[in-house]
Amino acid sequence: MPIVSMRQILDEAAKGGYGVGAFNVNNMEQIQAIIEAASETNSPVVIQASRGARAYSNDRFLYHLLLAANELYPNVPFAMHQDHGNSFETCKSAIDMGFTSVMMDGSLKEDGKTPNTFEGNVEVTRRVVEYAHPRGVTVEGEIGVLGGVEDGHGAGGSGLEHLTDPDQAVEFAERTGLDALALAIGTSHGAYKFSRKPDGSVLKMDLLIRIHSMLPHTHLVMHGSSSVPKDLQDIVNQYGGKLKPTWGVPVEEIQLGIKNGVRKINVDTDSRLAITGAIRKVFTESPEKFDPRDYLKPAREAMKKVVALRMTEFGQAGHGKDYKAIPLAEMAKGYADGRLDTRPSLAAAR
Ligand SMILES: [Zn+2]
Repeated sequence: MPIVSMRQILDEAAKGGYGVGAFNVNNMEQIQAIIEAASETNSPVVIQASRGARAYSNDRFLYHLLLAANELYPNVPFAMHQDHGNSFETCKSAIDMGFTSVMMDGSLKEDGKTPNTFEGNVEVTRRVVEYAHPRGVTVEGEIGVLGGVEDGHGAGGSGLEHLTDPDQAVEFAERTGLDALALAIGTSHGAYKFSRKPDGSVLKMDLLIRIHSMLPHTHLVMHGSSSVPKDLQDIVNQYGGKLKPTWGVPVEEIQLGIKNGVRKINVDTDSRLAITGAIRKVFTESPEKFDPRDYLKPAREAMKKVVALRMTEFGQAGHGKDYKAIPLAEMAKGYADGRLDTRPSLAAAR
């Protein structure tokens, strides 16, 4: 199976009523952890690279590592996704390289820090859609602004400052024709999302449910949705780390989201914690070791374990062989003839 569009993966997830984890990568071990977890649990998956990851790896490395993953695991349907593109040019360069999906995060200006205007967001997102869809490539957008900063991207602050407005979300979908929409419902990027277990006052699942009822044909995306589990924090701290107490998004809240239109769940921090804990353990217990494989192998195993667990919890496990890849050229035809058009006015009439 070739690398597929994210739209196909999310459409299948909507049909099957499950969510799909989107996991971030920067290097070979992380790609191996995800593709092995997906193969073993028979899961479709989204593998994503941020701008920071593309810069870190000089992106050709990542691109070819992902081709290798596809070559070695042809049984795993996966999309190659640009996470948080900050401009038309960033998204265009990903599409031109061969990514099958891009996020145009026009909720922030090109500096990746300053909240954008609604009109500015509509304009840049629509421009990316106009470039991507004739090539069969999926577009995710964002409306409202998430809290925190990750890879130098983010407005900072709490996730409650710029929540998604439901009417604006509908207008945004209508005017851009995008495939998937990331919502700001109180979550933040990074490890420090909540200072206590989140309840309805800080994690606005009611807002998400309302938006899904108004926008049933657009796939919803939860960003900043690592669960930051206590056991992974404890391993880091047990072996010399100094993480402050913190809470992520509980899996049961994500599962409630999945029942209400969430099809893509972004997870990065959990992988980072798993890797760092495993490496710290080797360094502490065996300080005489100096072969990088001695700590990168357990790091890869630890990440694979948490990724496989999330795949089972999100429901994508078991769905890797449900469908055949639709070539991007075929997706492009679907956009051109309206079959894949998700604009609320058209989708409702279908
Ligand atoms: Zn994000």
